[in-house]
Amino acid sequence: MSFKLSTRRSFVAATGLAATLPLLASCGSGMMKSRKERTFRITRTDAQWRSQLTSSEYRILREAGTERAFSSPLDNEKRRGTFTCAGCGNRLYSSVHKYDSGTGWPSFWQPIDTEAVGTTTDYKIGYPRTEVHCADCGGHLGHIFGDGPRPTGKRHCINGVAMDFIPT
Ligand SMILES: [Zn+2]
Repeated sequence: MSFKLSTRRSFVAATGLAATLPLLASCGSGMMKSRKERTFRITRTDAQWRSQLTSSEYRILREAGTERAFSSPLDNEKRRGTFTCAGCGNRLYSSVHKYDSGTGWPSFWQPIDTEAVGTTTDYKIGYPRTEVHCADCGGHLGHIFGDGPRPTGKRHCINGVAMDFIPT
């Protein structure tokens, strides 16, 4: 799947500036487009997602659900490898940046690269949280919190159901 990465990079290079400017401009204004209003490189109809994904994958990725804490085997995954999007195969996180946050969800202090994931502001539970999703298909992954370890101080709290693991 090496072609996919290069496709994504050229796509991001071509559209990155245009995509970034309105985001920066709207940051904090509450006018940020929701994930569903954006267009992604990989798009499928709802029926296609339903047939492609398991019911739990669909609930997390397409309906922004949250898996039960300590329910994912990927929480305890300690091998070297790459965590990919269960919806489209996009490379999201590396074992190099994984750590045990003790929360019961796979946790990373940064994505595998700056183009792997995107973020929105989510008010689902009454206060703003940073929602994180796959940059290629828009599938919901989890949230980013500010209590992570150095060097970023970020905790990407990711649903294991939203990812597949490919050992190195
Ligand atoms: Zn994806």
